[in-house]
Amino acid sequence: MSLEKKLEELANSQKPYSKFCAYQMVLNSMPDKDKKVLDEAWSKGLSANIIVKALRAEGYKTTPEAIRLHRKGVCKCPKN
Ligand SMILES: [Zn+2]
Repeated sequence: MSLEKKLEELANSQKPYSKFCAYQMVLNSMPDKDKKVLDEAWSKGLSANIIVKALRAEGYKTTPEAIRLHRKGVCKCPKN
């Protein structure tokens, strides 16, 4: 295999860099039904701690910190 081919192969096998934060990644992996439930939970004023506990119980991995940063708009998600 040529060096050029090998480099190309390795570059393509890299995991694509995520431009979203941990919380947005969870949202992206969620069925719409769960997103709706989550939206309702936020509008009811549930705390991030409660929401994280519920998410973890459902197998979603996130942290209260990731949620706070995302909701404050200071996470790494593209802003606009
Ligand atoms: Zn985010």
